[in-house]
Amino acid sequence: MTQAYPDPATSIQARSLSAAGFDDADIAVVGAGVIGTACALELARKGFRVRVLDSDAPGMGASFGNAGHMATEQVFPIADASLLTRIPGMLMDPTGPLRLDWRYLPRSIPWLVRLLWNLRPSPYQASVAGIRALNEVSLATWKTLLTSIDKTWLLRHEGSLLVHESEATAGELAHAMGRFSAQGVACERLSGDGVRQLAPSLTANIRGGLLFPETGHVMDPHQVVKDLAKAAEAIGVRFSRAEVTGGQASDVGIRLQTSGGVLEVPRVLVAAGAHSASLVASLTGVRVPLDTERGYHLMLPREGGRLPMAVTSLERRFIMTPLAEGLRLAGTVEFAGLQRPPRMERAWRLRQLAEGMFSQPLDEAEATPWMGFRPSLPDSLPIIDRAGPEDRVLLAFGHHHLGLTQAAVTARLIGQFTSLEHETLEPGLPSPRPYRLARFA
Ligand SMILES: Cc1cc2nc3c(=O)[nH]c(=O)nc-3n(C[C@H](O)[C@H](O)[C@H](O)COP(=O)(O)OP(=O)(O)OC[C@H]3O[C@@H](n4cnc5c(N)ncnc54)[C@H](O)[C@@H]3O)c2cc1C
Repeated sequence: MTQAYPDPATSIQARSLSAAGFDDADIAVVGAGVIGTACALELARKGFRVRVLDSDAPGMGASFGNAGHMATEQVFPIADASLLTRIPGMLMDPTGPLRLDWRYLPRSIPWLVRLLWNLRPSPYQASVAGIRALNEVSLATWKTLLTSIDKTWLLRHEGSLLVHESEATAGELAHAMGRFSAQGVACERLSGDGVRQLAPSLTANIRGGLLFPETGHVMDPHQVVKDLAKAAEAIGVRFSRAEVTGGQASDVGIRLQTSGGVLEVPRVLVAAGAHSASLVASLTGVRVPLDTERGYHLMLPREGGRLPMAVTSLERRFIMTPLAEGLRLAGTVEFAGLQRPPRMERAWRLRQLAEGMFSQPLDEAEATPWMGFRPSLPDSLPIIDRAGPEDRVLLAFGHHHLGLTQAAVTARLIGQFTSLEHETLEPGLPSPRPYRLARFA
């Protein structure tokens, strides 16, 4: 049975380490993305002394430039069997929604094989159930979190649209609606006029769509992280600019090698997004099959009022979200690893995709492109767990396309791990079983 952590206020480990002259934090959080920062705040509220380490300022990784969509409707894994037939066509188009860098192929093959293996009915359904369990409480958990830091304006619970333009895709839309409904996702079929009543700027070519009322968007993904960090700092969390280059876990504590020196703490939380794998391997001995699906955005600062809610195109396979600082066009999946430079033409390509969606041309002045690393595991489930000697290693990474959506509930689960048994979670939280590290051990 897993042991509960001692009360932070009376933690002998914490006191003895600080008395020995090491860092006086109870927990070091590696990574100040939306996941690490939300977790740091939650842990501090539980009474732990928290130090967050990041090589950059909070929220400068994938959390900086995501589409801001509270995508609670996306309960399906990143691939399904029907996608397989379309993949060759997608790969032939160098600016299409999917790109595989052929030089990276040898490294991505094991991950892709696992992805295919997870398309079998049983693991596929397990992934759907795991994603759904997090998504079902995501919006409510975010509302509670943002209310607690007095930043409710950041979240709009106004729904989102999935639209289609071609008669040929009407069947695909109907099929999608059936699948969403079967998973309990609230959705409503709209005609073309019904779509335009909600989003009048969209072209008359839009034939119809689905409205997901139980979704929403944030007004500024980066601001969300900055505000979480500010709230965390206000209750004592310390943020340090340092790259963690290695770590060891033992019965007496965690030793981290960082660009700012060695840090010894009783516990660590690994929340380094797509960069988490090597630290997890050295702390737990488990080599997780974490890869990155690189994604792009193009920000149009002069188009803030164009849409009232996030709109995804079924055929064009990208999303447009109205943010405080303009319209964000986002999407595409690129397998090219963490090292290769971005191909910003993929971000600029989003401009052409978007142009076809509106009856009036978009103002592209001052548009800025961006690329980020989605942290993706081949079963489309994150790792939210505790591991290592005396459960000293907490883990929260691998949220692929849904890291923003699932950050608040992830933080709640991580908070539970520090004081309670898995079996006695606070009511309303999903069981953490589907997100265990052991599935890759
Ligand atoms: C184009 C795009 C669109 C997206 N749209 C959405 C969306 O609409 N809705 C949604 O829910 N999700 C979306 N996502 C996914 C979401 O952005 C990610 O899942 C989420 O940001 C992951 O958060 P994170 O905190 O785990 O990682 P990150 O935000 O990447 O944070 C990890 C942090 O760890 C730091 N770090 C890494 N290694 C080290 C180290 N060794 N030492 C110290 N620090 C380190 C990094 O500097 C970084 O700050 C999108 C992603 C992309 C790319």
